[in-house]
Amino acid sequence: MKSDEIDLDAYARTKLPSPGLCIYCGNDKLKRSEEHVIPYAMGADVLSILDASCGECQKIINKYEQGFLINQIGPFRGAIGAPSRTQKKKEKTA
Ligand SMILES: [Zn+2]
Repeated sequence: MKSDEIDLDAYARTKLPSPGLCIYCGNDKLKRSEEHVIPYAMGADVLSILDASCGECQKIINKYEQGFLINQIGPFRGAIGAPSRTQKKKEKTA
């Protein structure tokens, strides 16, 4: 398979300001974390929203996102060397 290589480092990192609440459930009291608009595994830190998703919503989203990234496009991601937090951890410990 032939694919064009995309240098993710060539793109500006855009971090949108916090909306002040969870973008999924609207809760403004719970601690929130950064939400990647484009999943990290598909675009690293190209576009994210700071302080935008609560822990409970993050669990729901991660479950869906991981299922998609591993089961549906996992082999493709591996073949093209897509960004991976797991890969980053392995590189740090090596
Ligand atoms: Zn939420």
